[in-house]
Amino acid sequence: KKEEFTTHTPGHVEMYTCGPTVYHFAHIGNLRSYIMEDVLEKYLRYAGYPVKRVMNITDVGHLTSDADEGEDKMLKGARREHKTVMEIAKYYTDAFFADCDKLNIKRPDVVEPAANCISEYIHMVQTLLDKGCAYLAGGNVYFDTSTLKQYYVFNDHDEEDLAVGVREGVEEDTNKKNKNDFVLWFTKSKFEDQALKWDSPWGVGYPGWHIECSAMNRKYLGDTIDIHCGGKDLVFPHHENEIAQSECANGCTFANYWMHNGYINVDNVKMSKSLGNFKTVREIANVYGYEVIRYFLISSHYRSPINYSLDIIEQCKSALERLYTCRDSLDFAIKNAAEETKENDAELIAELDKRREQFITAMDDDLNTADGLAAIFELTKDINTKILDHDVSKAVCEHAAKLYDELCNVLGILYNRKENTLDSDIEALVEKRQEARKNKDWATADKIRDELKAKGIILKDTPQGVTWTKE
Ligand code: ZN
Repeated sequence: KKEEFTTHTPGHVEMYTCGPTVYHFAHIGNLRSYIMEDVLEKYLRYAGYPVKRVMNITDVGHLTSDADEGEDKMLKGARREHKTVMEIAKYYTDAFFADCDKLNIKRPDVVEPAANCISEYIHMVQTLLDKGCAYLAGGNVYFDTSTLKQYYVFNDHDEEDLAVGVREGVEEDTNKKNKNDFVLWFTKSKFEDQALKWDSPWGVGYPGWHIECSAMNRKYLGDTIDIHCGGKDLVFPHHENEIAQSECANGCTFANYWMHNGYINVDNVKMSKSLGNFKTVREIANVYGYEVIRYFLISSHYRSPINYSLDIIEQCKSALERLYTCRDSLDFAIKNAAEETKENDAELIAELDKRREQFITAMDDDLNTADGLAAIFELTKDINTKILDHDVSKAVCEHAAKLYDELCNVLGILYNRKENTLDSDIEALVEKRQEARKNKDWATADKIRDELKAKGIILKDTPQGVTWTKE
């Protein structure tokens, strides 16, 4: 439900994101969470809150819940590619962040691989055992859900989610006292080939998946945090189990707000690995570029389901082009507008500023990016009908451009304009080199050529002059 947002440490927001399991390339379903969380962080910063954001990288202990349940995702990835788990983890972590960079997703302040926090898991598991919320059985340590006042904290579980969650990993496990109990620490499992093993008071083994988020939250953000994010698919059992562990171990509320994003449908059918209809970010980006994916994923409110189809992606592409055209036209208008102020300047500026208010109202309402985008399109319409091709002052054009950038930056769109700036930097260097050559200053000319080469720019001398390409 919607609630008024306040931070528990005044003026400072602590945010936690369940990170990826790095056994494969990210698909757009995964990325919907990370883009929503990135917009949330950008908007909180825009609203004046410093944000500390932490994300884990699951490189150990993730049991699958799909058809071949019970198999560790990382081990599966390693076997598929004839590599070690750590090699797979490094490769797909790098690939994940390469995708994030291209989608203009800011890196969280702390990104921690699960394998780095073993002592924290052991400490938390021991606390849970000491408090009587966990038990040893058949060599593993389990959380005892019968000790909880409330297990199903969230009210939007559907039967399918619950069935999948209970099946997760340890369905056939007869050591469990209650059906929802889950493993905190494995020493005995069917994965006898498990390569990743650590010493613990209960024997050599490895952590359960859920404990990593609880322990990392406590390590970096303390016992209570402000906002916990993740996809709807993580609500059960992962987030229920995080709450159970953290609140039992720490004796206080775990997260004050939870924000879960909805599913993606492909041609109106739910996207899932078992249906084979999932799309990796790279597949789509190869054809449409990364920014269209970002635009697509923010074009609906984060909680509602979103439908992927080629038609919709095409529509997103042309919508984005409309925004680029407007912003580029503003640059042109600024160059050509008259310096003198005009009588209606203040009136025009006030009209434009109404779009900022509209944008903020939308975003304040549970991060409604769809309505936020609508405000930007209204602004685009204002600019097209009242500013471009009209006799307005330079000050008004500049004000419009600044406001446009301000709102687009919050949503993280139009970020490829940065490349244009890069291009003009390169042009300037190429010109400087030409100047040096004309003056027979070969040392400077060579120096600039090397400098450009380091940036991946290849120069080519032609009879018409110098051209350049990117490597
Ligand atoms: Zn988590």
